[in-house]
Amino acid sequence: MSVLDNLHRVRERIDAAARRAGRRPEEIKLVAVTKTVPPEIIRQAVKGGVSRLGENRVQELLKKYNDVPPGLEWHLIGHLQTNKVNKIIGKVALIHSLDSWRLAEEISRVASGANAVASVLVQVNVAGEVTKYGILPSEAEDFVEAAARLPGLNVRGLMTIAPWTSEPEEVRPVFRQLKDLAMRLMNNKAGATMEYLSMGMSGDFEVAVEEGANILRIGTAIFGGRQ
Ligand SMILES: *Cc1c(COP(=O)(O)O)cnc(C)c1O
Repeated sequence: MSVLDNLHRVRERIDAAARRAGRRPEEIKLVAVTKTVPPEIIRQAVKGGVSRLGENRVQELLKKYNDVPPGLEWHLIGHLQTNKVNKIIGKVALIHSLDSWRLAEEISRVASGANAVASVLVQVNVAGEVTKYGILPSEAEDFVEAAARLPGLNVRGLMTIAPWTSEPEEVRPVFRQLKDLAMRLMNNKAGATMEYLSMGMSGDFEVAVEEGANILRIGTAIFGGRQ
């Protein structure tokens, strides 16, 4: 299967899941996750209409930044070290992985210094896995409100990575909890919007769509397996 065939198939599955849930497919944004994918293959996806690219490492994002056509949105989806924040402010459209207070303060400091406002999602460790980054659900409300009050930082929603499973139905409760949390935070007084819910990857994106995701981060279903 070519990248274009895969892309077509993924879009069909997103549309079908959206229709099952009574949602409009157009409200769902696809971030093509390009980690380990070489620029020439990324360009094929761009020809196929992909306009948002996601990387989980700053170094790899910067390497590819100039190798793909301009005008695309870059999304940082993986853990961000505080000492790399200054390398990406102004380059990425959305940081999906705000996962600590130290990082919130550093993004605020760097963005303010550059007269920029960084759009971020708060990563929530819904399942409480010790191997994953993210704010625990019980601390999310206080964290979101405090982060939203920092200058230079615009909190626009929540992100989660569901536990790995071969049975996507099993992670439905995780997605549902993130959606519930976003609903509860919707009326916060600190100015955080809950416009984006970034959840759903190759193995579970249809369930995520059914549970309200409007940003999907999909790699292997588009580009094939990674080494
Ligand atoms: C790699 C990655 C993805 C995409 O995973 P696939 O299973 O290849 O779709 C999504 N989100 C994050 C944070 C990732 O690191």
